Amino acid sequence: MGVEGMSRREELAHGLGVVRDRIAAATVAAGREPDSVELVVVTKYFPASDVRLLAELGVRHVGENRHQEAEAKAAECADLDLRWHYIGGLQSNKASAVAAYAGVVESVDRLKLVAPLGRGVPAGRVVDVLLQVSLDPPGSAGRAGADPEALETLAQAVEAQPALRLGGLMAVAPLGEDPDRAFARLAGVHQEFVARHPPAAVLSAGMSGDLEAAVRNGATHVRVGSAILGPRPVIQ
Ligand SMILES: *Cc1c(COP(=O)(O)O)cnc(C)c1O
Repeated sequence: MGVEGMSRREELAHGLGVVRDRIAAATVAAGREPDSVELVVVTKYFPASDVRLLAELGVRHVGENRHQEAEAKAAECADLDLRWHYIGGLQSNKASAVAAYAGVVESVDRLKLVAPLGRGVPAGRVVDVLLQVSLDPPGSAGRAGADPEALETLAQAVEAQPALRLGGLMAVAPLGEDPDRAFARLAGVHQEFVARHPPAAVLSAGMSGDLEAAVRNGATHVRVGSAILGPRPVIQ
């Protein structure tokens, strides 16, 4: 497929340029510092060859949401200077294995994950942890993320693990809700969180479709896939 006449490298360079411009414009419009938003490129479903091209184009942060795929790609790209962000659902029996390659685990949403994550961190390293907050109404189907009220207990558990560093919060806007409304709610939760944990100031929010709304509401990291890599191949 691909845009006619363009190599994959050119396609990725083009997508990256568009997204970097969108982030820059949103940052300026929000009156924020130009470099205050970090881009995590979500490479899930795409091959390690794309990750390699992205690294050549200056990408340093990549995001993955399935353990086996992430583990394999991280191994294939071990020669590159990349920081792997694990952004997917986590099972407690896989958490240790994720901590072996991830620099950041963004999707910690329950207490059961914390000890296995801490145990999986290789000696001499530290893994940054973001707590995933749910912005869905309580009881919604397929809901990932902790309730805002559960964050403090989770934060303390992470802080008690020497190999984990509490970095901040992550969230996904609920389908069908105005992202500005959802992210405004998140900004409130984040403000309270940072007041209690000043060094844990990361706010990972915003994807291809709603990164501007996230930047308006204080995101420090956006996670962007399809706007850079194109539509995800259908698997299964
Ligand atoms: C897939 C995914 C993204 C990227 O989504 P796009 O719409 O392709 O930009 C961001 N965050 C999470 C948690 C994801 O699973």
